[in-house]
Amino acid sequence: MANKEGKGSTNYDAVIVGAGFAGMYMLHRLRKLGLNVRVFEAGEGVGGTWYWNRYPGARCDVESLEYQYGFSDDVQRGWTWTERYAAQPEILRYQNYVADKLDLKRDIQFSTRVNSATYDGPSGLWRVETDKGDNVQARFFIMATGCLSAARVPDFDGLEDFKGKWYHTGGWPHEGVDFTGQRVAVIGTGSSGIQSIPIIADQADHVTVFQRTANFTLPAGNRPLQDEEIQETKETLLEKRKFARTTPGGIICFEYNETLLEEMTPEEVQHELESRWTQGGFAFLGAYGDEMATDEANKVAADFAREQMSKRVTKPGLAETLMPNDHPVGTKRLCLDTDYLETLSKPHVDLVNVREHPIERITEKGVLADGTEYVADAIVFATGFDAMTGAILGVDITGRDGLSLRDKWAAGPRTYLGLGSAGFPNLFFITGPGSPSVLSNMIVSIEQHVDWITDCISRLTNGNIGMIEATPEAEDEWVEHVNEVAGMTLYPQANSWYMGANVPGKPRLFMPYTGGVGIYGEKLDEVAAADYEGFRLGA
Ligand code: NAP
Repeated sequence: MANKEGKGSTNYDAVIVGAGFAGMYMLHRLRKLGLNVRVFEAGEGVGGTWYWNRYPGARCDVESLEYQYGFSDDVQRGWTWTERYAAQPEILRYQNYVADKLDLKRDIQFSTRVNSATYDGPSGLWRVETDKGDNVQARFFIMATGCLSAARVPDFDGLEDFKGKWYHTGGWPHEGVDFTGQRVAVIGTGSSGIQSIPIIADQADHVTVFQRTANFTLPAGNRPLQDEEIQETKETLLEKRKFARTTPGGIICFEYNETLLEEMTPEEVQHELESRWTQGGFAFLGAYGDEMATDEANKVAADFAREQMSKRVTKPGLAETLMPNDHPVGTKRLCLDTDYLETLSKPHVDLVNVREHPIERITEKGVLADGTEYVADAIVFATGFDAMTGAILGVDITGRDGLSLRDKWAAGPRTYLGLGSAGFPNLFFITGPGSPSVLSNMIVSIEQHVDWITDCISRLTNGNIGMIEATPEAEDEWVEHVNEVAGMTLYPQANSWYMGANVPGKPRLFMPYTGGVGIYGEKLDEVAAADYEGFRLGA
């Protein structure tokens, strides 16, 4: 199937958008099939999320021994992690190590953004156009654009008047920023704000933090890794990854306790919550089986979390503002921090609650909220992303019979298994909406999808089948199932980016699949074993 014209031609077997973890592994697998593949990447290097998010304090919230590829023993043995939670520079170095080891960069065209992709019915090819004037064709078109890659600065009036410098955490300058001696305004208290504020406050003369929603945060408990645990992982990683794919979150450093709250004694509950809080990370959301399912059970964990958080706040009167009380714990992404709450207690850091009185505008000198102008030399927008759909719909995708994906998804994303969408033949999404994606260890979910897509393309190629497309019926059923399963959890209660709630006008629906990586993987296997049931295969 490899294109006879070879590299440099404008015809490819597959075009992949994005060279983060997903695009890199997809490229590797398709090349092994003998396909001629082109990757387009907007950044100047590989890395995706970890290429762009270079803000101070950027760090993964999944442990590094699990947040790495698990498909090659050779690759994993050649790399040694240094910290329990790797910082952004180390993860980016790892990605470059993998790209170089597998010689991936020769098939990646950097500094190139894909503008549009149009399916041509008669030829069965996708025509892909980029901002650098490329106009290429490919049988398969694969979106490896990540779930949190369309950075969003809210539409504040007056930003163009601001005389200082401003930054978004998701597009941080490569040379870094020195805030020494400055007054800095930070807007947003999600993971990015909570990670960056302590480091910014270490440098700046004064920091004003604008908080719209107080978030649950727990100490990350970061530390250097010990030789023994590194070695143990090297010996067992590939086996462990098979197991990780059977778990709800693709993470094995903790287990979800399936016992319901009412079946436990108060001492047992306290023990579970305490030990998981101390462990740090998402273990806290698995203390008992109904923690994310009923308000009553969740409240017990939320009260515990608030109590622990309060102990860390020493500035008089501050704890009340910092206590999250408008959403069940875990329904907005849990934050892991290092010294966040302690930092807010420092004399040169102020917290402004903009929940009741939103930010009115940006002025020449700073931020205006509730009639007060907060003067700043720099503004940091830690305001998040147009999550899950933003990067996909950033490309103008047109499928069969002129169907626009933007139109089709106007009321919310519709996919079959988060992998494909009816009306868009041979288009695959890696960790698309409707798959576990952001509720899991992303790399486990990426590998699950890439392996499935590779097997599927191999089946098509070997069977001389030109086209695969989700049927509308299978898609409707899956969308309904995704909604139904989300409805069995507390997740839809929060105004979160999982729900699209952070983007004004975006349809509100829970986008990831809450059924878990293991159950979802069984469904993927069944579909493939039944010769891609729910998809139409054609000439
Ligand atoms: P985020 O969780 O969406 O947080 C954005 C923050 O900006 C929220 O506090 C939000 O308030 C606030 N905000 C947005 N618009 C605003 C406005 N107009 N006025 C005032 N405040 C406004 O974004 P993020 O912190 O970049 O994190 C996104 C996700 O990326 C995380 O949940 C996580 O999955 C991932 N991430 C992971 C790590 C890690 O691995 N450690 C680090 C960073 C990010 P509301 O809550 O009220 O909307």
